[in-house]
Amino acid sequence: MRINFRARHAFTLGCACWMGSLTLVSHDAAVAASADLAYRNGHVYTVDAKDSVQQALAILNGRIVYVGSDVGLDAYLGPRTQVVDLRGRMVMPGLVDGHMHPMMGGASLLKCNLHYERLTIEQMQARIQTCLDQSRDREPDGWLEVVNWFQEAMLPPGTVTTRAALDALKTRRPIFVRSSFGHTGLINSRAIQLAEIGKGTADPPHGHIGRDSAGVPTGLLDDAAQRLADHLIPPALPADNVRSVKAALEAARQQGITSFLDAKAADATLAAFATVAHQGGLTARAHFAVLVEPAEGADPQKVVSRLITLRQRYDQGPVAVRPAMTVRNMKLFLDGVISAPALSGAMLEPYWLPSDTAPNAVWQPSQNRGPAVYFAAPALKALLIAVSRAGFEAHMHADGDRAVREGLDAVAALRSELPGHDIRIGIAHDEIVDPADFPRFKQLNVIPVLSFQWEKRAPDTVDNLEQYLGPDRYKLVEPAGFLADAGARIAYGSDWPVDTLDEWLALKVGITRTDVPTAAAAYRERLGKDKGLSRRQALRAITLNSSYELHQDTETGSLETGKLADLIVLDRNVLEIPEDQIANTKVMQTVVGGRIVYSAD
Ligand SMILES: [Zn+2]
Repeated sequence: MRINFRARHAFTLGCACWMGSLTLVSHDAAVAASADLAYRNGHVYTVDAKDSVQQALAILNGRIVYVGSDVGLDAYLGPRTQVVDLRGRMVMPGLVDGHMHPMMGGASLLKCNLHYERLTIEQMQARIQTCLDQSRDREPDGWLEVVNWFQEAMLPPGTVTTRAALDALKTRRPIFVRSSFGHTGLINSRAIQLAEIGKGTADPPHGHIGRDSAGVPTGLLDDAAQRLADHLIPPALPADNVRSVKAALEAARQQGITSFLDAKAADATLAAFATVAHQGGLTARAHFAVLVEPAEGADPQKVVSRLITLRQRYDQGPVAVRPAMTVRNMKLFLDGVISAPALSGAMLEPYWLPSDTAPNAVWQPSQNRGPAVYFAAPALKALLIAVSRAGFEAHMHADGDRAVREGLDAVAALRSELPGHDIRIGIAHDEIVDPADFPRFKQLNVIPVLSFQWEKRAPDTVDNLEQYLGPDRYKLVEPAGFLADAGARIAYGSDWPVDTLDEWLALKVGITRTDVPTAAAAYRERLGKDKGLSRRQALRAITLNSSYELHQDTETGSLETGKLADLIVLDRNVLEIPEDQIANTKVMQTVVGGRIVYSAD
């Protein structure tokens, strides 16, 4: 007998099936209690208070009406119930990604994509030439955007990629290659010419133009310098954004993501998602953290009115069976990133730098502690309090330990101003946290939203980080286990497309703190001193705890009677297989609000 993963209502864009199933059942009182969809003969990992594993589950009107033994399921089966025999497969709550950039991720799937791979210059050139050859109609003036370039991992190690690599390609088009971390762009000579960047062009504030020893631009543009060329690329049109959103939702369904937070939403993002939602194509519960720039911090009331306007326009009300849009979060960047070459994470103690440029130079503490936190402390406190009073929740990017501390300090002020209010504050990334601050996450009920896939040795966490932090501090990077031991409620966010969207690799790394077994020898050891998370801690982080972050944990994140039926069927039991195999997990089926939105072949 084959497992039947076919949907009763095949998924089509524009179909109003969530509403359809409601009317269907209310017409027929005789079978009102029988389930629409039922699963039996499996391992149903509930993530309930006891972390129990059951055999069977039943869904009616988009909600879970039964979780328990196979025998007990019979009472919920009727003539119209679609019954899935799991044949021992695992079911668990749908994944909740608490920090991602879906529209950008979707766009990257549709662009010329280097896929974060370790490449030689020749390999990189071959990939980009293929993209050029596939879009010859854009010659000679159409910009080519290339994304997900793993700049730090070019081969052989130490390779510096410049415009020469792009100038050798057979094209006249301007080219912009974006690094996966977003801090560097590489442009060819045609683009340099169009951007009018020359020897005499000054570095813009918060930006750096790469130059050779003669002062000639190399094509490398760091941070704000990227805008010198970026503004020449025609912006994405609303129709492009809609295509990107659809590509993102498709990728999410395949990964098993049933809810997510867009951690840097702009008006255009909200508009594109609203279009897709209106067409019936929203297949995950979509939360949005509206980006608020540091300059806006001076006028909290103006921020509040902007947020309220966006909420009125785009928020679709309380979480319900049918996935909808929620506008409840505000996104703030408190600093940049702690890895080189940016070193823009705000640190309590200085970065270490080499004494000189000799290969055997001594690394020692420098004067550089990174930038001032992007929001001054009094402004940050006032902003958090103002938006919280209006019903919004802050989601803060803080990478260095000084940014984390100032974020926590601001929350402390918020807690004493509004005691007893249920305000869910997330601090994302937390790559380095002072041990004195570990317990404050629990004390202040701040959710660390961590990207587990960073918790491994890799070019960005070794070559571009280890010496810059110095040995003692480096041992403490990516403190997921330390924070968990200190009682923090850990949530998870992929940060896609900063990395490839691979939730199952991230879970494996969060548990083992190692890369895949095929990683280069230099990166095979565990990362740092942190013991990592247990399997159940990691799985809880990406389900119930991220649901808590999104303020919907009473509705999603665990498989319990009365909750929304957001769940996934897996091809293997991730509670029992060897840890390394978790990375290879495939999602067989994704269900949102009781509706099957994805089935593997
Ligand atoms: Zn992010």
